[in-house]
Amino acid sequence: MKKRILARKTLTVVLAIFLSSLICTYSFDYIESLTYDARFRLKPFAKENNLIKLIAVDRKTIEGTRETGLTLEEYNKVLEKVESLNPTFVISLIAPDSLPMKSYEQTLILRDIASRLKNYIIHYDDAIMKGEEQKLLSSKPFEFLKRVPGVVTFDKSNFARDEVSRRAYVSYQDYLFLQPMVAKFFNGIDNISEYRGNFLFKEANQIYINYQRPDTYKKMSFLDVMNGQISEDLKNKIVLIGYDDKFTPDYYIKTPFTRDVVGMSKLEANAHVIQTFIENSGIIRTNQGINFIITVICSLIVLYAVMNLSPAKGLIVIINTLFGYSAIAWILFVGFGIAVGMAQPFLAVFVCYYFFIPYRLIVEARKSWELSQKNQLLTQVEELKNNFLSMMSHDLKTPLARIQGMADIALAKPQTLSGDQKDAITTIKRSSEELTEFITNILDLSRVESQQIKLNLQPKDINKILEETVSKCRYLAELKNIEIVCEFEPLFSVKVDTELMRQVFSNLVENAIKYSPENTKILVTTEEVDGMVVVQVADQGIGITDTEIKNIFTKFYRTKSVKNSQIKGSGLGLYLAKYFVELHKGRINVESIPQQGSTFTVEIPMN
Ligand code: ADP
Repeated sequence: MKKRILARKTLTVVLAIFLSSLICTYSFDYIESLTYDARFRLKPFAKENNLIKLIAVDRKTIEGTRETGLTLEEYNKVLEKVESLNPTFVISLIAPDSLPMKSYEQTLILRDIASRLKNYIIHYDDAIMKGEEQKLLSSKPFEFLKRVPGVVTFDKSNFARDEVSRRAYVSYQDYLFLQPMVAKFFNGIDNISEYRGNFLFKEANQIYINYQRPDTYKKMSFLDVMNGQISEDLKNKIVLIGYDDKFTPDYYIKTPFTRDVVGMSKLEANAHVIQTFIENSGIIRTNQGINFIITVICSLIVLYAVMNLSPAKGLIVIINTLFGYSAIAWILFVGFGIAVGMAQPFLAVFVCYYFFIPYRLIVEARKSWELSQKNQLLTQVEELKNNFLSMMSHDLKTPLARIQGMADIALAKPQTLSGDQKDAITTIKRSSEELTEFITNILDLSRVESQQIKLNLQPKDINKILEETVSKCRYLAELKNIEIVCEFEPLFSVKVDTELMRQVFSNLVENAIKYSPENTKILVTTEEVDGMVVVQVADQGIGITDTEIKNIFTKFYRTKSVKNSQIKGSGLGLYLAKYFVELHKGRINVESIPQQGSTFTVEIPMN
């Protein structure tokens, strides 16, 4: 049986691990990306990096320059203003050589400002391959412009394939990109492998961008700067100049925060990327090995909950597992920038739940079938037992009564018997009485256990029952020279089942005689206290130890000293006495001192 259970448990564990492995062979990128993005959306706070300042060609600028449009002249004005505030980097997402110009002179002005700026870089929005460097060059008269590729890639061919930008390039074919190049100036990181969570994809070193919330960066309006209204201190800062006009989706990317085509401007996204590089806070996505371990753990929790707990408790454990794991994933993300896999563990929870529920139903159906079989067998055994007992009552008690009758007849004429014969017949009579008592006890036990006892209540003077009982026992007492003293208070009649009460008192008085040495006294008293008839049987017998006294009303219990002695008994008398007294809503208890005596007290309510 145990082996079968163990084999079944092992099989379910193996199945759970197999299901996890199966699930882990697929990456479920789309679901994974949803949980990945949700963690960004649930970021409780955003952190702006004060080194980065944005100048945006916004709606206000477009409207303010409606007559002229944005030309090189306006651009130069802004650049000149910025240059006067001494920034470390100026990164232009606007290519000045593509702007309309009114006069050639503007080119010279631009060259002049550019030469005065420490690092003036034009952002090239694509990756270039070795040998394609000419793409970065500007044609005359703009050959002084320095272009550097800086790419925020989007997931078109990998991960969720939903065109959301989640990654940024670090390097490609040993060519360092714009954002890590700028960051290097502030954090000194030279070796690209030092960037947290960096990975190789299609020959490009990349990291996952740790976006802050949208609109974390306050943007200065290009128009305001052009008009000289600039209050920011730009010394040692990075200034990004770019478009932020929602009428042109080309200036925007989709981010984990929103899949809207104008989700976040490239201008702002670049700030988030540069911040990620400067702080080296790229998101680390856990690898397949760790995801597999987590998936197996989740599967095993579900397996345990489904197979061992009640359905309601199991469901609570499973829901708590889902919430608990989500909470852990969220804390790891917000606190440590670690994105653990969630799709596979979640799917494992659902798959295992729907797989093991029917399995449990099958196991349970089988168990209940086995139980019903056992039940049937037990009912049959019970029937057999009852038949046997009633047979015993009839077939054993009748011959016994006959033996007793014959013994009585023989003893009625003692003069016809020799001394030895008289002793022999007396022994026959005593033994058959003992046997009758034993059979009566066994029969009573079976009636008690099958709850067949019905009270036949009739008003009766308890003193009368006791008198009859004592007089029946006197003969036994005399054999041991035990004196039975009765002190009865006059009592009102009480409704009791006479037969059962007679059995209770007989048992107590017979025990008192059985367990007392010769030449002692037994005191039987009755009184009425607080609406109860109180009967006490006190002896000067062997007594009962403290450790055993609590057990003497238990079925078949006999104390150690009695078991080792010649005194016969079944250990059923007190069990039945207690049961009968309690049927009358009464109580029975005992006080005893070993070697000094015991006092049994029975209390029966008057009503
Ligand atoms: P038994 O048939 O053994 O007498 P009972 O149920 O009547 O069974 O009593 C249970 C046990 O309690 C006895 O075996 C005996 O050890 C103990 N016992 C009962 N009455 C007395 C008594 N008056 N004095 C000492 N021990 C007693």
